[in-house]
Amino acid sequence: MKKLTIIYSLIIYFLLSYTCPCNAQTFKSEPISKDFLITMKEGNTWSENAIVPANRLRLLTIGHIDFQGNQQIGQMIVLDVCEEAVLTIFKELYKRKFPIHQIKPMHHYQGDDHAALAANNTSCYIDRNIIGSTKKSVHAYGLAIDINPVQNPFVTMDEKTGIATYDPTASIAYANRMLARLGKATRAGMAEEVINIFAENGFYWWGGYWDTPIDYQHFQVSSMFAQLYLAMNPQEAKQTFKEVSRYYNIHQQPIEEKLLEELKQTGEEGSLVDYYKKDKKWFATCFNKLTRPKK
Ligand SMILES: [Zn+2]
Repeated sequence: MKKLTIIYSLIIYFLLSYTCPCNAQTFKSEPISKDFLITMKEGNTWSENAIVPANRLRLLTIGHIDFQGNQQIGQMIVLDVCEEAVLTIFKELYKRKFPIHQIKPMHHYQGDDHAALAANNTSCYIDRNIIGSTKKSVHAYGLAIDINPVQNPFVTMDEKTGIATYDPTASIAYANRMLARLGKATRAGMAEEVINIFAENGFYWWGGYWDTPIDYQHFQVSSMFAQLYLAMNPQEAKQTFKEVSRYYNIHQQPIEEKLLEELKQTGEEGSLVDYYKKDKKWFATCFNKLTRPKK
């Protein structure tokens, strides 16, 4: 009896002292509440003119390890289609102890991208244009994620002068992209380590693949699919997102080009969303041909 009491006490002790942040409360998705939406509006990240309506956005709670090895809890806003995929990505990063400095929605920086980068903030959603363009960024769809900007710079190149500019400034220390260097400590928090985790979960376009600018911190869904997911109802969009990810995982290739090739057989030019809006049946025929081929 005494032995049993000791065993029970030990079990209770471990249950109380060990609370794994990898539980349902730490990783969760919820709709944007009215109060939260006001905070976003006041923080310059969402307005009634935003391309994504508030009911298509989700607030994620994400557990992560910081650079000091401490467990932290962050928040991220994403489009509904990728809520599960993004939680899977960050659970995997947590499992691998991949350090992330902090994860805060952009209203903490009044929507100021430079301020968020300087604070080494990891984030996703903000209704804004591509820097230096009038086109909406994929961040405005809640389908682009920037991780550890200090470890993963945004590099712009002046083609006339050959001068490269690093944003944030502190990211110059990570201009050299080698993880391990002779005589130097191995570095952590660099995007190269986690490209596959993002890619396997639908975020297979990485800014580190670009020529100019090079955006090492940036993982995204293609803008043509971002537009399509918004045109579809949430259920159809979610299913399509899953199929697109599955196609990438089977073929290790993006589906975008192949799908456009199929769609173009009508002889008409257009974007994915143009084809979808014009003829949903034709779109489904082409999409299913690639994602559910007959054996
Ligand atoms: Zn970005």
